Parts: sequence; C-alpha cells; structure tokens
Amino acid sequence: MHVTPEVTPIPCLKDNYAYLLRCPSTGLIGVVDPSAAQPLIKVLRDKGWGLDYIFNTHHHWDHIGGNEELKKQFPSIRIFGHQSDQGRIPGQTDGVQDGQVVRFGAFDGFVIHNPGHTSGAITYVWGNAAFTGDTLFAGGCGRIFEGSPQDMYFSLHQKIGLLPPETRLYFGHEYTEKNLQFSLDVEPTNHKAQELLKEVSKLRSEGKFTTPSTISQEFATNPFMRTTELEIQKRVCELEPDADLSPVSVFRVLREYKNQF
Ligand SMILES: [Zn+2]
Repeated sequence: MHVTPEVTPIPCLKDNYAYLLRCPSTGLIGVVDPSAAQPLIKVLRDKGWGLDYIFNTHHHWDHIGGNEELKKQFPSIRIFGHQSDQGRIPGQTDGVQDGQVVRFGAFDGFVIHNPGHTSGAITYVWGNAAFTGDTLFAGGCGRIFEGSPQDMYFSLHQKIGLLPPETRLYFGHEYTEKNLQFSLDVEPTNHKAQELLKEVSKLRSEGKFTTPSTISQEFATNPFMRTTELEIQKRVCELEPDADLSPVSVFRVLREYKNQF
C-alpha cells in the first residue's frame, strides 16, 4: 500500500521545478506547476503516459506557463487552483479552498491555503509529500507580493509548519544554495545549516537537485522558520535597531534584508 504518489521533479525554465505525479494503483498522472509544456510532454511521451490533472500552487506565469498547451494535448484534463485564482489560472476547472480534500487516484490529499507570496497561494499535501510552490523553499521563503509579513509568517508557521516533521517538501525553485548562504549570514553558528550548505554545494556542482526538503530540515536550517533564535534576533537588531523582536517583526526584517541579499 503506497502512502504517497510517485514524484519526479522536472526542471523547467531557469530554476523552476514542475513535479510529475503518478498513482501506482490507478495509473493516473498529474503535474504540479507546469512552468512550460515541452519538458513535460517529452517526459510523458518517453514514458508513454497521458496526463489527467494539473495542480497549480499559484497564478505566477512561471508556474502556469504550460497549462494551455497541455490542455490542448489532453483536452479532458482537470486543472486545480485556489478558488480566488479563477480567471488568473489558465484553463482552471476546479477552485479549491483551505482544508479541502483533493483526491488524486488512490490518495486523499488536502489543500492548505497559505497567502502571502500571492493571495491565492496553496500547498497540496498527499501522504507525506507537500508541494509548497513559492511559499516555503529549502532554506528560504517566497517574496511577499500580495499580502503582509504577518500573512506570510502565519502561513509558514501556523499552516505549513504544522505538518509532521518528516513531511517531504517539494518546492518551486532551486534556490537552496543561495538561501543557505543567507541563512549563515544571519545565523553564522548554525552547524546544521553549515553542513547542509556543504552537501548542497556538492550536489549542485554535480548538476543534481536539492529537492525535496523536509519540515524538520526547515526548522533546523531556514532562518524564516527560526525567528525566536537569539543569534538571528541579534542580527535583526544590527539591521534595524528600532525593530521589536516579536516573531512577525523579526520575520519582516529578515524578508526585507533577503530582498537585497
Ligand atoms: Zn511565484
């Protein structure tokens, strides 16, 4: 009995990941965030697979760029996104909301609504795999385009962060190496981040992926998940001496600093 769909990362564009999903018991195929159609069509052809579902995490062009072409090739496909993204996600057939069950083959998953990067940003969870789009990355988080630091903090800590520690995180961009360099800038004595950066730099020099991460890895190495650490708070005081040290305020200062890092 499988608890999680089979997941294959497909690199797209410069540093995006689309994720191909397969349900072993039904043979159904889905894809999370097809940035571009061609890399997916090639893999589907090679494997002799069709495509039944697109699951979009948010409406940005580099996550939905393949929707229209894939819909042309597979006309009966269902396309999921947050209900508020209707009109912003091409070809959307299903609007979902926080906590809603999303069935993929034999797997009953669910959706977490995590606004901040965009107002309709969502994470899909099936078994112990979570697809976070541009909200939570390995070592970092997305920019805040449609929301407040408070929204993003709440999405990361009170929504995604409540998933079990062993949950695998499949994120939208290969930013891990740069993110960990930032992590060590604000928390230089974090030994787990030091070790991970070494591993990640090796993987990248060999052209390998750093996806997936896990919830526990993020709490150990991602400064945006570690806003109550003294060393990070000290760094925030240097960056913005007037900032209060509430978790949301620390998060805001880190996020603004990262925008220029
Ligand atoms: Zn985005």
